[in-house]
Amino acid sequence: MSTNRTFTMIKPDATANGHAGAILDQILKSGFKVVALKYTKLSVEQAQAFYAVHAARPFYGELVDFMTEGPIYAAILEKDNAVADFRTLIGATNPADAAEGTIRQKFAENIGRNAIHGSDSDENAAIEGNFFFSGLERF
Ligand code: UDP
Ligand code: MG
Repeated sequence: MSTNRTFTMIKPDATANGHAGAILDQILKSGFKVVALKYTKLSVEQAQAFYAVHAARPFYGELVDFMTEGPIYAAILEKDNAVADFRTLIGATNPADAAEGTIRQKFAENIGRNAIHGSDSDENAAIEGNFFFSGLERF
């Protein structure tokens, strides 16, 4: 089922560096509508749970440390073909490989501290959105 929704986080690096406004502006100007949005900070337990799929990867501990070092913006976004179009907008995981003009090419520091998250499937978009937002927080 295609829901036309995706989930994103502006990660602690981009939030701390003052890039959240520019990133949100680029997202909105690219045709995504905000369904839900919050400014929050992940606990270690929450970050471990959110990235549980990566628990066996060598970068997991570093990823959890990074994602808990400061606040983030979390959002559910809506657009036709939301998941794939948002992955195109943010660019490759490693900013060195990210296409010109993508959010990661402009704002990411490296493959770990890469400014922004985007869901990789409709199924994960729903799971990740539900991780952060109740039904009462979506408009
Ligand atoms: N990551 C990392 N080292 C790697 C691969 C990934 O630190 O070699 C981090 C990075 O922050 C990335 C996150 O783990 O965004 C999740 O990895 P994934 O492969 O799902 O990349 P994404 O879907 O975010 O592009
Ligand atoms: Mg991923």
